[in-house]
Amino acid sequence: MALLEIRDVVKRFGDFTAVNHVSLSVEAGEFFTLLGPSGCGKTTLLRMLAGFEQPDSGEIILDGVNVANVPPEKRPVHTVFQNYALFPHMTVAQNIAFPLKMAGVPQSEIAGRVDELLEDVRLQEFAKRYPHELSGGQRQRVAIARALVNRPKLLLLDEPLSALDAKLREQMQIELITLQKEVGITFVYVTHDQGEALALSHRIAVMSRGQVEQLDAPEHIYSYPKSRFVADFIGQCNLLDATVLDVGTDRMTVEIAGVGQCHVLPVAGAAAGQKGCLTLRPEKIKLGATLPADDSDEVHFKGKVHDCLYLGDVTIYIVELDNGMLVETMLPNSAPGRAKFFDDNDLVELAWRYDAGHFI
Ligand code: ATP
Repeated sequence: MALLEIRDVVKRFGDFTAVNHVSLSVEAGEFFTLLGPSGCGKTTLLRMLAGFEQPDSGEIILDGVNVANVPPEKRPVHTVFQNYALFPHMTVAQNIAFPLKMAGVPQSEIAGRVDELLEDVRLQEFAKRYPHELSGGQRQRVAIARALVNRPKLLLLDEPLSALDAKLREQMQIELITLQKEVGITFVYVTHDQGEALALSHRIAVMSRGQVEQLDAPEHIYSYPKSRFVADFIGQCNLLDATVLDVGTDRMTVEIAGVGQCHVLPVAGAAAGQKGCLTLRPEKIKLGATLPADDSDEVHFKGKVHDCLYLGDVTIYIVELDNGMLVETMLPNSAPGRAKFFDDNDLVELAWRYDAGHFI
């Protein structure tokens, strides 16, 4: 049985439904992320796991027990907040020891447990400092150590890195992955940052308007988004309006509006005449002045460079197809000193394989 099972949970504020019939389960030891734009209900769902909000209906089963109406302090759960919530008048060691004192753990045991946690978060030499004497990243590590000290079954993290600058965030992301592997505690992580979710998680639940739009491993969500919302929210994606012409066993044919036909992977239940869109990630599209047409699995279209965006490691090329449609693609700037392969108005060719895209 999963460590956490959320069954058909609903939460309303007045006549507004913030969480709308959500069901999902989280396995022990998993790094699980609730991802979605502001207002999608992810924090409300996390707060119900913590016990700060009660669901209007549904069950929250933690380790076999329905905790939906159990108060926060009685749950084997801890939360790390965005603002750290450290006690300013206590040292790092005292902050970490606090939950153990509250739980009545004997003094003789406390020092050992605190040392263990200080080592886990690499803050041994900061034990006697006060929170105002620490950097943002160090404070965040103290907050995590304090949340882990009495070994919760579930650690809830509510946008814990959002107050940090980009470089420190990246460093803390690596630290979080390492820490989670070391301590083996199940993490449920809330973020609106898709890059962070892809980098950290074993699985991601993408939320929109109080519901789970898609729940899958990061690479699956990125490669096979189930809806326009997910495709658009996670990374860069071309969404090309298309109609199904013919469905075969290993591929189907679609007509991209005003551009032409191409093959795509078959989709269960698709039928001729069905309208939808082809999702194509920029890095899956080949770009060249001309491209060899020797691969029958590829489709080729001609176009003209509309815009170039130099990003250092890659350059993004926005290519205008003959019918005026804009398609985003990219090339790595791997050759030394090379910033760009093409300039605005250069004539180019695009190609992609039948399995590069995904029809939704
Ligand atoms: P953010 O990333 O901005 O925190 P979120 O996805 O975490 O967004 P929630 O905080 O869960 O979103 O809020 C979901 C919706 O429920 C929002 O429209 C919010 O205004 C509403 N909401 C949340 N808490 C309350 C409350 N106590 N009373 C009324 N409405 C609330």
